[in-house]
Amino acid sequence: MDFDGYAIGGVSVGEPEPEMMRAIEVTEPHLPADHPRYAMGLGTPAQLVELVARGVDMFDCVLPTRVARNGTAFTHRGSISIKAGAYKADFRPIEEDCLCFACRHFSRAYLRHLLNVGEILGLRMLSVHNTSMYLRVMAETRAAIANGTFGEYRRNFAVNYVPTKRVLLARAAEAER
Ligand SMILES: [Zn+2]
Repeated sequence: MDFDGYAIGGVSVGEPEPEMMRAIEVTEPHLPADHPRYAMGLGTPAQLVELVARGVDMFDCVLPTRVARNGTAFTHRGSISIKAGAYKADFRPIEEDCLCFACRHFSRAYLRHLLNVGEILGLRMLSVHNTSMYLRVMAETRAAIANGTFGEYRRNFAVNYVPTKRVLLARAAEAER
């Protein structure tokens, strides 16, 4: 049928990531090449890059704001738990080359303080950073595709990105719902 675009749903519902990727790989060849493909409810930054490599164009996901509300920030080097004691005197922004409002105005140490005293601004700023980080990953992905370097971008992203246990748990909890 000539729809405007096509969605892949029913993945990331508790299965291991390799199985999720396989489901996408098996589905993708059946979708028209000249229509947008949308993977429903996915994923982590690293998964977005891997799904683009498998032919997906669009995503939606609660993860950036959900983990922000648990005090977790996504970066190109994986996710970090800002509440951790390690950031008590860390006056760098969440991500050094990020231009989002949170990174331009607040340090990890101050955001950690906000989170630990239950000040809602901390959760908002982590949400601002995380959604901004997701948009940046997709902008970088589009640019890499346009100039023919997506393969290299994908390899570097996977090497640099290491998710924390907290995000793995959040992912598992989400999959259970
Ligand atoms: Zn930021």
